[in-house]
Amino acid sequence: MAITRADLNPHGVPLTPVQEINQERLVYVANELERRSGVPVRVSSPLRTAEEHKAIYKKLGRNPPKRSNHLFRNLDGSEGTASAVDLVDRDDRLKKYILANHSADKSILVELDIYIEDPSCTDTWLHVQTTAPASGNRIFIPFARASKK
Ligand SMILES: [Zn+2]
Repeated sequence: MAITRADLNPHGVPLTPVQEINQERLVYVANELERRSGVPVRVSSPLRTAEEHKAIYKKLGRNPPKRSNHLFRNLDGSEGTASAVDLVDRDDRLKKYILANHSADKSILVELDIYIEDPSCTDTWLHVQTTAPASGNRIFIPFARASKK
């Protein structure tokens, strides 16, 4: 079943035009990944409220980063990008598909203009975002992980 806007924004939070575009792109990307890989795509973590964001990190025993691309409103009060989604990937099929199709010559990440968290940091899911991380790397170490001692 195709991913819809409601899957990405289950609370129906009102978004800014820029956030709407990011969400629209994520829907396209999720469904395009499914079409290309043949792996059924499901959302494991969509757009988050501040409470949901804090709860996720509390469960991990870590302090929540003040900013996340999963947020429409960052914990520091600034506007979030709403440009990230986590897709279920317990068997690593999505991660493996992407890595097998990402080389210097030809990359699915470049084609779709997306960025993913390093698969070694995402055990049972695939983190996809449509905005560039600070490093600009298509495959990047998440800030919350990189800053962990
Ligand atoms: Zn994520």
